[in-house]
Amino acid sequence: MSNHLFDAICAAAPGHAPFILLKDGTVWTYDDAIALSGQLAGAIRRLGVTPGDRIAVQVEKSAEALILYLACLRAGAIYLPLNTAYTLAELDYFIGDAEPRLVVVSQRAREGVLAIAEPRGAIVETLEADGTGSLIDLARNEPSDFSNAPREPDNLAAILYTSGTTGRSKGAMLSHHNLLSNALTLKDYWRVTAQDRLIHALPIFHTHGLFVATNVTLLAGASMLLLPKFDPDEVLALMPQATMLMGVPTFYVRLLQSAALDHAATSGMRLFVSGSAPLLAETHAEFFRRTGHAILERYGMTETNMNTSNPYDGERIAGTVGFPLPGVTVRITDPASGAVLAAGETGMIEVSGPNVFKGYWRMPEKTAAEFNADGFFITGDLGKIDAKGYVHIVGRGKDLVISGGYNIYPKEVESEIDQLEGIVESAVIGVPHPDFGEGVTAIVVRKANAAVDERAILAALQDRLARYKQPKRIIFAEDLPRNTMGKVQKNVLRERYAALYQ
Ligand code: ATP
Ligand code: MG
Repeated sequence: MSNHLFDAICAAAPGHAPFILLKDGTVWTYDDAIALSGQLAGAIRRLGVTPGDRIAVQVEKSAEALILYLACLRAGAIYLPLNTAYTLAELDYFIGDAEPRLVVVSQRAREGVLAIAEPRGAIVETLEADGTGSLIDLARNEPSDFSNAPREPDNLAAILYTSGTTGRSKGAMLSHHNLLSNALTLKDYWRVTAQDRLIHALPIFHTHGLFVATNVTLLAGASMLLLPKFDPDEVLALMPQATMLMGVPTFYVRLLQSAALDHAATSGMRLFVSGSAPLLAETHAEFFRRTGHAILERYGMTETNMNTSNPYDGERIAGTVGFPLPGVTVRITDPASGAVLAAGETGMIEVSGPNVFKGYWRMPEKTAAEFNADGFFITGDLGKIDAKGYVHIVGRGKDLVISGGYNIYPKEVESEIDQLEGIVESAVIGVPHPDFGEGVTAIVVRKANAAVDERAILAALQDRLARYKQPKRIIFAEDLPRNTMGKVQKNVLRERYAALYQ
């Protein structure tokens, strides 16, 4: 019987070739991984999980945790990974919302989770960072040749919660075809082959590390060096054995801080990909200067997988997220009227394609509100498409500043500030202001020992930005608040400075 995504993974799997390599020298071949996925799927079925049931997983990163994702596909269950940073109180929301049949956590968390899960009819099993646990014990008693649950392209493969950067996380329902179509597209676009070896240092509860990194590797029959977390020295040391790195912008900022990063250290690498948050043009330029590699920036979100990418062969332009991927349509609309805007104009980014999700889990009204009548998903990101067809993101709709009746796109102001001498980075936000509605406010991180002060920055912006775009205040900070994916939490900044102009 056919199982849309897993069949494709299986067909691409090169048998005895390595899939996952660990720091301690352990190698999981494709055959090993598929065998354990069959055993885990058997254990899952024996626990009473039926196709369409959710399996919530909050565990440390390990080969077994990735293989559990494959097992869920095979059992027809909906994989529901959760950020390892979530507290018990947060888990309560997710378990209540998703109503999983099975919850997999570490032994340490088991007791607390049982109290939440059991009253809701869920079973709790364990999986540790070292790959042991009650679920693995159950799996060892199962045969590896599992008969896969039939799954159609439109059946759900996963519910993935968004990062919660702008508010409470929403569960994005992703079908087998959403995941498969996007992974195949990326594999071709980025020319990933069985010869590739990815340095995997991203978390696996987020679309970047889970679907982009893992599904692309699987569908190319490539391999990955699976690291528990990102450590710049470790990543640099592994580069001679690898060909690709996928990272959030902070990875690249931190790699640049290492004196060991140079042409020689990266000479065996084929591709550096960045996404999940905006990569500063300066980081892109500096990385190119130090290594000769132009970081390839792409744009995606939990709800849509990847939408756009800078080209593999053509020019990778810093500050842009490249072209719509094959099969994906991107358009820019007027946020107020919804009318499609002309090239070069800034507005709401809308997308459609086989990558776009099936809606938010148990939020029919929110789903209806975020889709247009003709099926385009309203991303919530603002941007434009330039004359060459490159997509530029100028920020999130929710971060747009409206001051004195004018729209101010934070990125425009941030780019000007970031170019000044002595500045590391900045975040521009709107803060309640008695006269202007919102006051443009810049939170700025300076380089160590930089002499630049508020007056100097304001003076430098005089001739560069229209008066209404110029910040009313510059506030210096040691760093910007970021979540686990390296995204700047502007809501935290807005709260922190809410009373600034009162
Ligand atoms: P929530 O939707 O819960 O507020 P979130 O939007 O941060 O959280 P994700 O789905 O993880 O959750 O992130 C998708 C968002 O990340 C995009 O909508 C976009 O704002 C941002 N993003 C992703 N890639 C890029 C990029 N290359 N440049 C700029 N922004 C990016
Ligand atoms: Mg979002």
